Amino acid sequence: MQITPMAIPGHIDPVPVPREVTARSDGRVDLIGLPRARIASLLAEAGLDAKAAKLRSRQVYHWLYHRGVTDFEAMTDIAKAMRPWLAERFVIGRPEIIEAQVSTDGTRKWLLRTSDAHDYEMVFIPDETRGTLCVSSQVGCTLNCRFCHTGTMRLVRNLTPGEIVGQVMLARDALGEWPGSAPLLDAPAAIGEPALDDDDEEASEYTADGRLLTNIVMMGMGEPLYNFEHVRDALQLVMDGEGLALSKRRITLSTSGVVPMMARAGAEIGVNLAVSLHSVTKEVRDEIVPLNRKYGIEELLQACADYPGASNARRITFEYVMLKDKNDSDEDARELVRLIKHYKLPAKVNLIPFNPWPGAQYECSTPDRIKRFSQIVFGGGISAPVRTPRGRDIDAACGQLKTASERKSRAELDRLAEEKQAALG
Ligand code: SAH
Ligand code: SF4
Repeated sequence: MQITPMAIPGHIDPVPVPREVTARSDGRVDLIGLPRARIASLLAEAGLDAKAAKLRSRQVYHWLYHRGVTDFEAMTDIAKAMRPWLAERFVIGRPEIIEAQVSTDGTRKWLLRTSDAHDYEMVFIPDETRGTLCVSSQVGCTLNCRFCHTGTMRLVRNLTPGEIVGQVMLARDALGEWPGSAPLLDAPAAIGEPALDDDDEEASEYTADGRLLTNIVMMGMGEPLYNFEHVRDALQLVMDGEGLALSKRRITLSTSGVVPMMARAGAEIGVNLAVSLHSVTKEVRDEIVPLNRKYGIEELLQACADYPGASNARRITFEYVMLKDKNDSDEDARELVRLIKHYKLPAKVNLIPFNPWPGAQYECSTPDRIKRFSQIVFGGGISAPVRTPRGRDIDAACGQLKTASERKSRAELDRLAEEKQAALG
């Protein structure tokens, strides 16, 4: 096991770097999370000639990511005899669902399990105009933000691209949102925005284009920029017009401020950026977002100013959790406006009432205080709506996600994975 020490002052926490994917004991390869070119090379390694591998990979990719099938038998434009050949060598995985909960406000939370037995969560938040899936990037988090329940977990491991894109696919399964399974040749390729499929009509509850799941936020468990490559590869599959086909304008990545990775995120992923600012003074931010001791506020705001693609039409969101008597004064609000103007940032501010969890040391600011804070920021010409907490009754709101997964030794993980495979026969 490789150990990389975290160099955040006061937080010396060795992080095990996980393997890309846990090998399956039956030797089959899970195709979910793989780009088309990789599927083609696997087919070629399995014995197809280059031309056939390319054609088949195109077909398989379409069935996996555009049609959402989970069984090779459903791939009707692939020769009948070829389908068992594929099934012997490959699987079409989904994260295992351990528990599904629905909040009184319609928010849904799923407890998911990786094939090596780690638990993580994803949340779906429907509202009148959109349906947002909140996706996790890691099991646990290294960063220990003081107000965040996930931050009390240690990092168990990074999620793989398959486990990240798998959350989106599982949500489409659960919401019944895959288009009909017409063969590839008859299906128009969707480009950019999701296409309106005839058979999606009953799902028109939330959006004009008929889909429930319209937006994705990388705001579940974990810090996405500490799992950069996997998050990038997964989001590329989500954005691919021939695959899940969700526009990058409908995807937001939230970071607590991993400055050195922000430019790459802009260049290589290019989705909307949200930054968990939460304080405008060094003293308070050092306390509540310890990463600030490594990358300070000025450096962070400069990285935001340099973020490619940010404009008035695509503003950067600053998330600001409202903590009573900590970061919620009039001076804080005025300083927030000053900083945003000083760095000339195309920005909006999202004020998040603190969501409590057992053992948290903070309290939420009073509604009057939040209102006043919001008015001052609005008064400075910057939009600062207050986010309505969603799914609090099922612990699905921002910062409430936490699972019982613990960091285990590699030997223990291998033993558990073996036991599980044996139990599955
Ligand atoms: N790790 C990333 C993304 C996940 S957290 C990040 O920190 O940006 C999503 C948002 O919820 C972040 O802005 C986070 O700071 C905020 N949050 C965490 N705990 C919270 C809590 N208890 N109440 C309200 N918001 C919280
Ligand atoms: Fe990690 Fe984000 Fe929670 Fe901070 S707020 S501990 S970065 S998940």
